[in-house]
Amino acid sequence: MDYSTNDSKSTSKKKVVAVVGGGLVGNLNACYFAKRGFQVEVFESREDILQAKIVKGRSINLVLSHRGRQTLKHVGMEDTIISKGIPMHSRMIHALNGTQSPIPYGKKGQYILSIDRANLNKELLSAAETYPNINLNFANKLLDWSTETGAMTFVRAEGAKEEIQADLIVGCDGAFSAIRKQFLRQSRFNYSQTYTPHGYLEFTMPPINGEFAMKPNNLHIWPRNTFMMIALPNLDKTFNCTLFMPFEEFEKVTTGDKVIEFFQKYFPDAIPLIGALLRGIFFRLPAQAMVSVKCSSYHFGDKCVLMGDAAHAMVPFYGQGMNAGFEDCLVFNEIMDQLKDFSAVLPEYTRVRVPDDLAMYNYVEVTYFILLTNSDVNSKWFLFRKYVDNFLHIIMPRTIIPLYTMVTFTRTRYHKVVKHWHWQDKVINQGLLFCAAVSVAGGSYLLQLWSRLQALKSPF
Ligand SMILES: Cc1cc2nc3c(=O)[nH]c(=O)nc-3n(C[C@H](O)[C@H](O)[C@H](O)COP(=O)(O)OP(=O)(O)OC[C@H]3O[C@@H](n4cnc5c(N)ncnc54)[C@H](O)[C@@H]3O)c2cc1C
Repeated sequence: MDYSTNDSKSTSKKKVVAVVGGGLVGNLNACYFAKRGFQVEVFESREDILQAKIVKGRSINLVLSHRGRQTLKHVGMEDTIISKGIPMHSRMIHALNGTQSPIPYGKKGQYILSIDRANLNKELLSAAETYPNINLNFANKLLDWSTETGAMTFVRAEGAKEEIQADLIVGCDGAFSAIRKQFLRQSRFNYSQTYTPHGYLEFTMPPINGEFAMKPNNLHIWPRNTFMMIALPNLDKTFNCTLFMPFEEFEKVTTGDKVIEFFQKYFPDAIPLIGALLRGIFFRLPAQAMVSVKCSSYHFGDKCVLMGDAAHAMVPFYGQGMNAGFEDCLVFNEIMDQLKDFSAVLPEYTRVRVPDDLAMYNYVEVTYFILLTNSDVNSKWFLFRKYVDNFLHIIMPRTIIPLYTMVTFTRTRYHKVVKHWHWQDKVINQGLLFCAAVSVAGGSYLLQLWSRLQALKSPF
């Protein structure tokens, strides 16, 4: 089927945008294109999740922050989504001895939100359904597309194949994008993918006597050196726990008894909270892998563009993958406000967005992970630096901004965030070194002065 307006018979038709992948980014993107007046065809390999009984997928809940919220706001969805989220004001750090200490995410009143992934997906789909110029095509899996003709080949659930053409193809088909495969054949296209040595395993912490088992307005973290467990609250008063751990450690826990032993050693305070479910948590599903993907460019001619995980999948420690993917839609839309023609918009999108790929700055996430997981020396330094950064932020709010604040509570471009972070880190470390040197010099001077005074007083 030729939806494209290049077809000579269809010059009066609206331009057609094919969004491949009706996940979080694809469905939101469809709303953006529809709002601009395009005819939008969404092709999703899964069944309609609004009808499906079982929805398979990744993490049960996600952290939504400023970039994601701003993108939702533009299509009038921010309030609906927030009303179904749970604000989390602090990280709640669980020490091995069970003590809990909160570390606020930002200033008073700043928070991130725990959002149910399946519900968010349903809300986005329902929003897409309200646009008369969006057509949702479920059980349509992209097999391949031609960079020469732009023709996409889809296979349907019953096995039938169909060839489809559109004016613009938007690849929102996730980290293992089938759209991106064709980019790999082009010269000067850079691509890399890296698996972390860690896997992740999710399980539920049920309510106790109908109430949350722990304080609900926090993201709970159990840092344990090379691994950590986190828990995010859900509206049904459960917590969704995720254990991030090297695969070889997962492989050692082979029986229900070993699970109990493992929890007694590392997470004793969580045992009564998870209760009877604990024995089985390692065996319901295997630990899942985490991949980060970097590529450049994000477009092919005036025909195709990549967004969301298809362009930049990242490890989840900073809670930015979806937020960055949502922001892609906003950035693309901002560029469309200035440049109308796809032949100008697509290269500009690559120019603007590629340097802002947080996956490129993997060490930002990895550093954060190391800081979070290190339960002793580094976390004390982390806490100290956090207090110093927060204090300096209060007295110089425009000059010193904590990294997490820039990433999570602003729309400062990611590459500027990283640049500013390096600069302020250097300045603060030098300042602390200077203060330490002055204190040591001052202390030894006072000590000398005191010994001289003692010597003057002494009859010997
Ligand atoms: C454990 C974990 C925790 C996370 N936590 C957070 C968090 O707290 N905050 C955050 O911002 N991000 C988080 N992320 C990242 C976030 O999940 C992703 O960035 C986000 O899902 C990307 O959305 P997407 O629409 O680009 O891709 P996806 O969600 O992967 O959607 C892609 C869609 O394309 C469809 N598709 C795939 N191939 C085809 C094909 N050939 N034809 C047609 N359709 C196809 C799929 O069925 C799917 O619906 C987390 C990720 C993980 C793994």
